Amino acid sequence: MKHTGRFGTYGGFYVPEVLMPALEELEDAFYRFYQDEQFSQELKQLLKSYAGRPTPLYYAKRFSEQVGFKVYLKREDLLHGGAHKMNNTLGQGLLAKYMGKSKLIAETGAGQHGLATAMVGSLFGFDTKVFMGSTDIVRQSVNVHKMKLCGAEVIEVEGGTGTLKDAINEALRYWTSTVSDTFYLFGSVCGPHPYPTIVREFQTCIGKETKAQCLEQLGRLPDLIVACVGGGSNAIGIFSSFIDDKDVRLIGVEAGGKGIKTREHAATLLKGKVGILHGAKSYLLQDEEGQIYETESVSAGLDYPGVGPEHCLLKDSGRAEYVAAEDTDVLDAFELLCKTEGILPALESSHALAYLRSQKGKLDGEAIVVVNLSGRGDKDVGIVEQCRPAG
Ligand SMILES: *Cc1c(COP(=O)(O)O)cnc(C)c1O
Repeated sequence: MKHTGRFGTYGGFYVPEVLMPALEELEDAFYRFYQDEQFSQELKQLLKSYAGRPTPLYYAKRFSEQVGFKVYLKREDLLHGGAHKMNNTLGQGLLAKYMGKSKLIAETGAGQHGLATAMVGSLFGFDTKVFMGSTDIVRQSVNVHKMKLCGAEVIEVEGGTGTLKDAINEALRYWTSTVSDTFYLFGSVCGPHPYPTIVREFQTCIGKETKAQCLEQLGRLPDLIVACVGGGSNAIGIFSSFIDDKDVRLIGVEAGGKGIKTREHAATLLKGKVGILHGAKSYLLQDEEGQIYETESVSAGLDYPGVGPEHCLLKDSGRAEYVAAEDTDVLDAFELLCKTEGILPALESSHALAYLRSQKGKLDGEAIVVVNLSGRGDKDVGIVEQCRPAG
């Protein structure tokens, strides 16, 4: 079952020579422990008692009435830490422990992955460093504080534009000199092989649970599955169990930006061109010279100029469809879920909800749609307040 690291022509292993042994060690360890009974049991137990799995599949009745078809929410917002990130950080954290590493490093943009890593770092007693761009440190100061409370050191990255892309560059650079005792805990289904495969596997619990819950609660599979796409991990997590069920449409929603900020550098799969970033080949937001654009979105968690290689393949094959949601529609969808259900979704997840609103009158009233509600919106209340002062 060992994966080649290629999804069609995408993915791969484009890293400096010094990182090759570390990635090979990681790949070997992953395949050894992921199938190991003790490792599986320990992870299963932690996902249950520490993180709160299984998460519910909830029928959003009043939201459904507004859009005109049946909407079920996969409640990853209820997971410890407030987002699906914990599935991956628990898995990789445990892997680091089994590999005998003593230190964790991670990159973070909005701070959600950094926080989930800091939590797991303190759970397992690792020395944890989180690399974060200087711009993001200012924008996401609450998460910086939370990471420090959990005992992590937050390392400010000054280069570039001080965002996620720069944090990943710096974390990779730091890793080259510390590989012997340090585990790089990567946050999404991007980066060099084996990360897209490892992160995917640790997020498949979302799809497996969803499928079982659909069969139990609805007696059938859904017609549509919708998830937001930044790097692509929550989307792959829920899509993975349904890829062979050809009657289930898979829809990924990217950040379309606009409205709130002025530039249009958004929607990687829709507008990007193939290139290499952070060790992998994928669609990228880049100019004619191959310079990477800065993405622009109301939700920091979707601000990444690349996208996971498996999504690139799913797009080319047509198995999954990708669309973009613009900021104003995202905010409308955020408000609608708050008003109809009393659930505050993350702005990232609100992209998926915005797609549902756009389908009003287009989908059959009996259609069943499952949305991966990837995270909760508490972290975004300040941004929403700035854009839409509450009346
Ligand atoms: C980080 C994050 C995302 C984007 O990451 P993916 O890898 O695309 O899932 C989406 N939603 C929430 C709540 C996040 O924290």
